[in-house]
Amino acid sequence: MNPQTRLVEVRQKVLKQNDVIARELRRQFQEAGVLVISLVSSPGAGKTSLLRETLRRLGESNRVAALVGDLATENDARRLAESGAPVRQIVTGTVCHLEAEMVKTALQGWRLDELDFLFIENVGNLVCPASYDLGEDFRAVLLSTTEGEDKPLKYPTIFNTADVAVITKADLASVVEFDRQAALENIQRVRPGMRVVEVSAKTARGTKGGTAWGIEPWLELLVERRAGALAREVAK
Ligand code: MG
Ligand code: ZN
Repeated sequence: MNPQTRLVEVRQKVLKQNDVIARELRRQFQEAGVLVISLVSSPGAGKTSLLRETLRRLGESNRVAALVGDLATENDARRLAESGAPVRQIVTGTVCHLEAEMVKTALQGWRLDELDFLFIENVGNLVCPASYDLGEDFRAVLLSTTEGEDKPLKYPTIFNTADVAVITKADLASVVEFDRQAALENIQRVRPGMRVVEVSAKTARGTKGGTAWGIEPWLELLVERRAGALAREVAK
């Protein structure tokens, strides 16, 4: 067997094993009634800032927690812990994405049934996180106004595996001359019908082009998703 074929086979086996663990995690999350949201983006798009603010605000009337992946540091966990929510860091070392097994290990000792929302911040990377199911209910892909408008065209796969696109740093849009219309079109070209939320960790609510933006519309989406998930569970 040539080495390339062997590599592909090993890789498929690893992915398959990941899916088995992810499926089991999803079952546990549903049983516990916790909504699990993963965040993916390139480094610096603002996952941690958005998450810290989300934990702080959502945590006022909900039980929230987070896992955060990083290659080398625990800085993000420290920043997130400022929200007062339980947070665990997953240091991945040389692995540039999270895998279901890492999530499973990081959750040891946590009572899932005592949570309403669990967030998983992936390592900053728009490539391989697309291939790894973490058992989440939904995946949010972030793109920041400071990154330009073409991320969806460059990384179509991650947009296709995500459920919601979140445009971050919306407060900086005019400063960096972000072409909002082009960004929205690029998202729809890659993933027709994709839901888009425009946020800023620093702004509660505003209006842009007739659409509400800021952190509140994002929080409303989360609450709405959890209510929907619980209703489906009851109807089973
Ligand atoms: Mg981060
Ligand atoms: Zn990777």
